[in-house]
Amino acid sequence: MTHPLLRRKDVLDTPVLVLNRGYQAVRITSARDGFSLLYGDRAQALDGSYEPHDFEHWAAREPDDGELVVPTLRGAIEVPRLLLLRSYDRVPRTPLRLSRRNVFVRDGHACVYCGDTADLTIDHVLPRSRGGGSSWENLVSCCRPCNLEKGQRTPEEADMPLGKKPVRPTWTVVVQLGGVDEPLPAWEPFLRAAG
Ligand SMILES: [Zn+2]
Repeated sequence: MTHPLLRRKDVLDTPVLVLNRGYQAVRITSARDGFSLLYGDRAQALDGSYEPHDFEHWAAREPDDGELVVPTLRGAIEVPRLLLLRSYDRVPRTPLRLSRRNVFVRDGHACVYCGDTADLTIDHVLPRSRGGGSSWENLVSCCRPCNLEKGQRTPEEADMPLGKKPVRPTWTVVVQLGGVDEPLPAWEPFLRAAG
């Protein structure tokens, strides 16, 4: 069994999504603070099947393959990706700010036309030169080759269908405040529910 080797400090800086008792995302914290919540019994760690564990149980548990671990005197402890608070913390209601970075996050860091993940830029679905504005519905992540090919045309005119209709994300500001580049797959169900 192998685990990615990171320096202890880096491991403790990795992001952890904190859920309230109602399984709603309330914030992103560091693994360091996450362990403190877990150890203080103010939260439980969720495993890959979303089963909650208290600290004793979590520490005694064999880390899942490929997950980050912290070496301790009692053995390697897996860094939790998700914590479930024992309390009902308020869900931040501020909507996600429209920015290049958040458009990339919404579109999964991939071109909406071809799915490429390299050399990304922002495309106006209805080109700016034709009155297309900056909105969640008109901005998409796009690779430069597709951006060039599409030019001053609409997706219909260019025969470049959008992979999915661009909409305002339903996540709250949680992702943005956490300063993470991309939500972890394990977080997705909770971020979507939070809006
Ligand atoms: Zn593309």
